Amino acid sequence: MTTAVKYIYRFNEGNAGMRDLLGGKGANLCEMAGLGLPVPPGFVISTDTCREYYRLDRKLPDGLMDSVRREMAVIEAAVGRRFGDPAAPMLVSVRSGSKFSMPGMMDTILNLGLTAETLPGFAQATGDRRFALDSYRRFLQLFGKVALYLDPEPFEKILHEARQAHGAASDAELDERALEVVVEQFERYVKSGPHPFPDDPWKQLELSVRAVFDSWNNARATAYREYQGISHDLGTAVSIMAMVFGNSGWDSGTGVCFTRDPATGVRELYGEYLANAQGEDVVSGARTPRPIAELATEMPASHAELLRYCQNLETVFHDAQDIEFTIEHGKLYVLQTRSAKRTAQAAVKMAVDMTDEGLITKADAILRVPPSDLTQLLVPLFDDEAKQRALADGRVLGTGLNASPGAATGRAVFDSATAVELGSEVILVRPETSPDDMPGILRAAAVLTSRGGRTSHAAVVTRGIGKPAVVGCSVLHVDVERKQMSVNGMTINEGDDISIDGFTGEVFAGRIDTIPPDISNNDELRRLLEWADETRRLAVRANADTPADAAQARAFGAHGIGLCRTEHMFFQADRMPFVQRMLMSAGHVAKLEKDIRDAGLALQQAGGVNAELAGHVKEAESALHKDAEALGYREALAKLEEYQTADFIGILRSMDGLPVVIRLLDAPLHEFLPPLEDLAEEATNARSSGASASDVAEKEHLVEEAKKLRESNPMLGHRGSRLGLTYPAIYEMQVRAIIAATRSLKEERLDPRPEIMMPLVMGKAELVSLRTRLEQIAVQMGQSLGHDGIPFGTMIELPRAALVAGDLAEQADFFSFGSNDLTQMTFGFSRDDAEEKFLGFYLEQGLLPQNPFATIDEAGVGRLISIASQEGRASNPGLELGLCGEHGGDPQSIAFCHSVGLDYVSCSPLRVPVARLAAAAAALGEHQRDV
Ligand code: PEP
Ligand code: MG
Repeated sequence: MTTAVKYIYRFNEGNAGMRDLLGGKGANLCEMAGLGLPVPPGFVISTDTCREYYRLDRKLPDGLMDSVRREMAVIEAAVGRRFGDPAAPMLVSVRSGSKFSMPGMMDTILNLGLTAETLPGFAQATGDRRFALDSYRRFLQLFGKVALYLDPEPFEKILHEARQAHGAASDAELDERALEVVVEQFERYVKSGPHPFPDDPWKQLELSVRAVFDSWNNARATAYREYQGISHDLGTAVSIMAMVFGNSGWDSGTGVCFTRDPATGVRELYGEYLANAQGEDVVSGARTPRPIAELATEMPASHAELLRYCQNLETVFHDAQDIEFTIEHGKLYVLQTRSAKRTAQAAVKMAVDMTDEGLITKADAILRVPPSDLTQLLVPLFDDEAKQRALADGRVLGTGLNASPGAATGRAVFDSATAVELGSEVILVRPETSPDDMPGILRAAAVLTSRGGRTSHAAVVTRGIGKPAVVGCSVLHVDVERKQMSVNGMTINEGDDISIDGFTGEVFAGRIDTIPPDISNNDELRRLLEWADETRRLAVRANADTPADAAQARAFGAHGIGLCRTEHMFFQADRMPFVQRMLMSAGHVAKLEKDIRDAGLALQQAGGVNAELAGHVKEAESALHKDAEALGYREALAKLEEYQTADFIGILRSMDGLPVVIRLLDAPLHEFLPPLEDLAEEATNARSSGASASDVAEKEHLVEEAKKLRESNPMLGHRGSRLGLTYPAIYEMQVRAIIAATRSLKEERLDPRPEIMMPLVMGKAELVSLRTRLEQIAVQMGQSLGHDGIPFGTMIELPRAALVAGDLAEQADFFSFGSNDLTQMTFGFSRDDAEEKFLGFYLEQGLLPQNPFATIDEAGVGRLISIASQEGRASNPGLELGLCGEHGGDPQSIAFCHSVGLDYVSCSPLRVPVARLAAAAAALGEHQRDV
């Protein structure tokens, strides 16, 4: 016996815990019905049904529409009207809603049940023919677009012409006669398309259910899911609910309200409504709505009731809600509630406030804020002086609504496709945005619209993804077709620079420089991060190699530096000549030094009294002295030591009292050397211009040395510790500089805590040799390496190093996983090449689940880290373990680091707050999806 599949759930059969099956919207409607809130009667078709629809290759499961008919009868009984009844038809809405909120991405159909046949009865039953016509034209428009896949532009054009012909400022002002004409034209248009327009409302209902299922896979929904990391397999539920009418007259209306301000998080009713309108008017931005506070004077009873429900829903859902409501002839209905999308600023404030209010716990607060969203609080601001100049120059074009915070400057573009093409340095300018603009919005630096309110599509979406936006800047005349906007006689064309201030709503012509953020006066963030610090086990350090970066990292709460890349210091322009001189003579000098050592050894073996051998030693010594002098080698080294000492003093001072891991030089040589062709040309010029013999010889020597240094694969070549071993003077110089800097700060009674780290080590012998040599330098300076001196450790960046970690740990006080190189070396491709050439393909084809350079590949690279951690600790229980690749700032990778027992992660200064919060979330056992 087979049991019938349950496709449908009545509102009284579900609850908020059934999001998987009923979608967020459906589950919450059920919850509200259960709480006794005024929800119109209805039911939900489950997400299972949607999955089944796709499994059947886009066919509705057998029996579904029979069940729908039965449930429709239940609604009919509740409202006392029948679907399709020509005398007094009941109308329904058919709404999409998946487990995760995807605002505006999928489709919804309203006013279903109005047909040419039922229209007169509906007009009579409501006593308002104008209203009936308005509802019908809305139905034709939505149904045409969504279920018949018609181009929406002709509908807009017809409406626009009707408004012009009747001198109406908005659709609400179109009278009955005007609407008759509109309806007639709409009917003609929907009947002209490639898909037949059914007159039967039941057939329309079926097509609408299918259209909603289909909208799960439309381009914008798919793009949105990809961007947010939502699975494509979930499917959408369909809620079918009796219609209530906000456009039944001026004692009716519709609106959206938030229980707290979604931009700032302040606890006050926030939102907008429009009298005599339906929901789409508010959301689409077609009419600019009124602030919700005005409802208190216009419809005080409904306002008070709404306030009560808001409080009730927050208590039940333990979170700020975004509520859709409609008032029909003075009676309030709640049509939807969902957890409110919010800016990061608001998320932090709400989480902290709600903890203070006793609504949630500190742990809830930590888990409430997606860690990566914190980077939104680190949005750029305008450089104040630059902005003042722009103001003084009269470059303000206008002021709109400050819909989403942050400052942005870039070229104006007027369509989504161009924004996608030109990328992040553009500002997308539209009259209003629609879900079809989503790809452009995701790509652009910011969004500007001339129409729409704070809950318009542009505002909601940009807030959700943390992009600056100004909306409803009505002085701008945006002409999408000509790709330009004009204001006060000035025209901005595509490609012209503009700037917007999402904090104030100001729009400027031209560029305004932006500056990095400052979070020092954000009290809520400070408290949330303090709670995170109390909760997490992983320490968070920063990757920094300048005193300014170190200071910034410290201000963001970094507990020391996990990676100071010394090669970055070498790259500075004034140092490059010394670096080049040193590197190009280092091979030659190392060879002469070896000669001295060999000659000395021979002399020693001869008992130290052989005059000929003694002569060899002297010769070798003087050759070294002469060449090193001639090549400027010693001077270059001394100069670099001076620079490095000053560098280290600055960094150690910024991180006084906290560990600073200094990695000795690791850079592929070619990044430092001048092109061989340039050197050859210089040598030729020296010869032909009759330069001195020694000058010519020196130039030729450089060419020879540069040839020797040339590598066919520099990333796998003479770099890292290999360079440190073959050209020992470089690391020795760096260690001297570290010790000198430490000493100097100690003299100032500060507490410098350097640690010395070897790059790109592959085996124990390397580490023994490096440690022995560098220890000698330290001892010469009255220092020691190791526990009681300066900790000495190694990066683990090579698969081999990870696999012999037990041996390495005998020679190391700490390991730091260089997950960038470790990923590159494990996968056998470089980040740049992969991302540019084939990674997109791999991700699309499912050949890789995610970008392994962004999120740690747990199966491969993660396994190496785990093996190295265990074997390292087994042979050296005191071994400290950290990770300093880019993954150190990625929440999912941080959760992994937590799970394998690392002591710290190290990330770029701007990611430090993210890492602190993510480490706490990991400690709470929550490998939360960070979208
Ligand atoms: C690494 O390889 O992960 C690392 C931190 O070193 P770099 O990025 O400097 O190669
Ligand atoms: Mg590396």
